[in-house]
Amino acid sequence: MNPFQYSKPVNVQEAVRLSSAASRFIAGGTNLLDLMKENISRPDHLIDITGLALHDIQETADGGLRIGALVSNADLAWHPLIEQRYPLLSQAILAGASPQLRNMASTGGNLLQRTRCYYFYDATVPCNKREPGSGCPARSGLNRIHAILGASEQCVATHPSDMCVALAALEARVHVEGRAGARVIEFADFHRLPGNAPQRDNQLADDELITAIELPADSLARHSHYLKIRDRASYAFALVSVAAALELDGELIIDARLALGGVAHKPWRDRAVEAALIGQAVSREAFSNAADALLQDAEPLEHNGFKIKLARRAIIRALSDAAVAGEQP
Ligand SMILES: Cc1cc2nc3c(=O)[nH]c(=O)nc-3n(C[C@H](O)[C@H](O)[C@H](O)COP(=O)(O)OP(=O)(O)OC[C@H]3O[C@@H](n4cnc5c(N)ncnc54)[C@H](O)[C@@H]3O)c2cc1C
Repeated sequence: MNPFQYSKPVNVQEAVRLSSAASRFIAGGTNLLDLMKENISRPDHLIDITGLALHDIQETADGGLRIGALVSNADLAWHPLIEQRYPLLSQAILAGASPQLRNMASTGGNLLQRTRCYYFYDATVPCNKREPGSGCPARSGLNRIHAILGASEQCVATHPSDMCVALAALEARVHVEGRAGARVIEFADFHRLPGNAPQRDNQLADDELITAIELPADSLARHSHYLKIRDRASYAFALVSVAAALELDGELIIDARLALGGVAHKPWRDRAVEAALIGQAVSREAFSNAADALLQDAEPLEHNGFKIKLARRAIIRALSDAAVAGEQP
């Protein structure tokens, strides 16, 4: 670990003023400290944001919720309003990490956690995400956990978050503040595909701090389900995960949301696939067609072809479970 300066600002403006390209904000530290210990991240200045007033969950005027960036993953998952109105989010968070990690991990930090690609974490090998232009050994190496959608020649890493898959399906918005002022980023635009710049995971500028996540009032809460497929029953990242939510009128689909995790550099959604479900009756055939459409551009690497079949089955199951969720036994 290299030497670094440490500051603990007391308000957002001071935190933003202190930030630079070589500094890092630190919240729970559950990802950043690992990256620093492995020499993957070498900030010259750690800006501890845990003293900022970003720990609250508040109702918004239009019936949604505003979640402070420092709300812990545990407090968010167990909050009564999240459990009632956004069970998809609660399920996704509780499917991730461990109770101890969820107590430390923050909402903002979860969005910005780095990939779990083995080569990214090994400072002795090339990695375009770590050292742009150095190469991508994952493409021809051990790529069982890697992307099947939206990858590039430069990078086949996936985004590892569970929370973000639910936030994508719920059409959350990310509130950020930087030296140029505050702005709001639609969740679908927040993370990016690797393209020719895999070192950049998202659209944040170096001086921008996430202050809050906003959830819209429309939550499709009644018929929703988060399904995570992993190598172990707990404490493992997703091989494939699915956030599915439906609005139903009897058996008729009025609205649909479908997001995949573990398959791409960002949570994967295709609005055309969701639109095609609208107006159809709940059926295995409709869900199977949606799965085929969502995966039609999937490209397997040598070791991860199984993810295409797995994702297909997981999509059908998650939509089927969402359709019957909330029904009285
Ligand atoms: C063993 C293990 C298992 C895990 N399993 C899962 C899992 O199954 N599913 C899952 O989703 N996650 C999992 N995680 C990841 C965990 O959820 C993240 O590490 C955590 O959410 C990050 O939050 P943090 O507050 O600790 O972030 P930090 O480690 O403090 O920060 C992470 C990054 O975010 C930046 N940052 C933090 N807050 C802000 C902010 N407000 N504005 C701007 N930048 C900010 C930091 O600069 C840093 O770059 C696991 C982690 C570990 C260690």
